[in-house]
Amino acid sequence: MARIVLAGAGHAHLHIVKRAAEFYRRGIELLVIAPEAFWYSGLATGMLGGRYPPELDQVDVETLVRSGGGLAMRDRVRHIDVDRQRVDLESGASLVYDLLSLDLGSAPSEIPGTTDQVYGVKPISNLLRLHDEVRRLATIPDHAPARIVVAGGGPAGCEVAANLAALGELGQRPLEISILTSRNQLLAGLPTRAGAITEQRLIQGGINILYCAAVRSIQQNFAVTEDGRRMPFDVLVNATGLKPSPVVSTTGLPTDMDGGLLVDRFLRSVGDPRIFGGGDCVSFAARDLPKLGVYAVREAPVLLHNLLAAQEGRILKPYAPQRRALMILNLGDGTGLAIRGGWVLKSRACAWLKDWIDRAFVGRYQDLSRS
Ligand SMILES: Cc1cc2nc3c(=O)[nH]c(=O)nc-3n(C[C@H](O)[C@H](O)[C@H](O)COP(=O)(O)OP(=O)(O)OC[C@H]3O[C@@H](n4cnc5c(N)ncnc54)[C@H](O)[C@@H]3O)c2cc1C
Repeated sequence: MARIVLAGAGHAHLHIVKRAAEFYRRGIELLVIAPEAFWYSGLATGMLGGRYPPELDQVDVETLVRSGGGLAMRDRVRHIDVDRQRVDLESGASLVYDLLSLDLGSAPSEIPGTTDQVYGVKPISNLLRLHDEVRRLATIPDHAPARIVVAGGGPAGCEVAANLAALGELGQRPLEISILTSRNQLLAGLPTRAGAITEQRLIQGGINILYCAAVRSIQQNFAVTEDGRRMPFDVLVNATGLKPSPVVSTTGLPTDMDGGLLVDRFLRSVGDPRIFGGGDCVSFAARDLPKLGVYAVREAPVLLHNLLAAQEGRILKPYAPQRRALMILNLGDGTGLAIRGGWVLKSRACAWLKDWIDRAFVGRYQDLSRS
């Protein structure tokens, strides 16, 4: 029996997991390796801010794949041996594959000196741990505020700060939230107006913003910036930009400068026709794509088609990314900031639209995994 292995079950694989029956019907074994449930990034900062319960943000991928006749292993890929067509797992097990698809995601680069009071924005499940920790700190009787430093002023850092502010009065201690960004504006790379609107919202929420303040290291409970400033914290959130999973480099296959697996327009490794991939861990050779879930989600049906077609010797489908994607940031105050190309709008209707899109997306998979 041919075996197709899915390494990771994130935004780029969820659709394939749901369609496991298509593999089963053809006599192909579909095996998913995933260390935890799928966590949906669209609802993640709302969960952090207490608006959504954690269950709403997750899909049980093991139940979902098994309901279609596929297999699941709760484990992590440690190493990939492309010559032996073998995946080595952290548990010590090894698996051979006929085809392999990578959806291992991304994480912020580790800041030197990181302690257990530092929370990366990925994996998304960290945001639940962060939520619990902030609540715990807020209930410790102390006159001094609980100090939260967010390193990074991109979309993830701004959303996290805004939604932490949305937690409001939690207990006896107020929260003191600061964003430290290496740039001289928020949301650098997006329209300047988007950064200015976000700045206004964060300032209104009582958040301090420090520009040109790249966090370079952590020394005990201080974030140390490039120019030597020392910022004390009780909790630090690392939102310094996402880099592909380091497991990709174990393949020895061609990658981009950040270590993303270089894939052609069929989402197939340019160095090995038996390996496909999608989402943040790959680099689309034809065009640089931002690390956004919307791209990963649209890659999924193409990956599904191409894995089946490659196994059966049929023609592969090219992936054509949309020219621009709609991004809606949850600003934690009941408004959303919509950005598409140069167009920017902050309103309650944008937040409502985001809520509707995100609940509908995740609901499509939860209904099946819970039935
Ligand atoms: C706070 C935050 C909010 C965001 N909000 C949005 C948004 O609203 N809209 C949007 O479009 N994008 C958003 N993004 C970006 C989005 O999260 C990513 O682009 C998206 O998750 C990429 O999907 P993926 O499939 O590559 O990775 P993921 O969905 O992260 O999946 C990777 C999977 O790999 C698994 N994994 C990791 N290591 C291993 C291993 N060694 N072995 C096996 N499995 C492994 C993980 O468990 C995970 O399930 C946000 C990002 C952050 C940090």
